[in-house]
Amino acid sequence: MKKIDIAMPSMNGKNSLNGFTDDEIGDDHIFTGLETPLRADAFDMSDQEKKERIAILFEEIMNVMGLDLTDDSLKGTPNRVAKMYIDEIFSGLNPENKPKIALFDNKYQYNQMLVEKNITFYSNCEHHFVPIIGKAHVAYISSGKVIGLSKLNRIVQYYAKRPQVQERLTNQIGKELSTILATEDVAVIIDAKHLCVSSRGVKDDTSATVTTYYGGVFNSPSKIQELQNYLKTDHV
Ligand SMILES: [Zn+2]
Repeated sequence: MKKIDIAMPSMNGKNSLNGFTDDEIGDDHIFTGLETPLRADAFDMSDQEKKERIAILFEEIMNVMGLDLTDDSLKGTPNRVAKMYIDEIFSGLNPENKPKIALFDNKYQYNQMLVEKNITFYSNCEHHFVPIIGKAHVAYISSGKVIGLSKLNRIVQYYAKRPQVQERLTNQIGKELSTILATEDVAVIIDAKHLCVSSRGVKDDTSATVTTYYGGVFNSPSKIQELQNYLKTDHV
């Protein structure tokens, strides 16, 4: 297996970001850019090699915590976690897993907004690696091409399956749709619960976080109002 040196973050040092500690930054969920911060060598290892390595490392974490890895219930956990990380909950890190999108001509000449709402997603907070559970609503106005409805869902799921912050997730979905559909007229609204806020830290179980991406005509108050009206309507 190829040996990869992974820089360890300091356990107690001040971060360079405005003098806050890493802990303070993590709880305040600052995010640093549109792109998920990946190293250039992120895909030098195969998925299989990554799973083998993560299983070893996760076993070490469990060992450090004093868990008995000979216990029947625990002994398979390192492998299960490794497989889940690479094949499922963080599969969206790998560009090979990006959904293939086919566009169709807008034969119906439908030129109003299309809204796909209540797309349930599960992501994970990149500061604590605990779940973010939410709903995404996406909308666009065709510039001549249309996209299969299920693909809107798949794009949301692809970007959700990364260590994330909600602001970046929102913008990544918005920019991706804008690129694919060749139009600025794209909107994304995400309403999500962060388990790092509800199950630990400040332990607020009722708050939710809403983020928006409004491109092109969606920057006008009337379009935002129209979109909000669709989101309020009960579904069939
Ligand atoms: Zn968090």
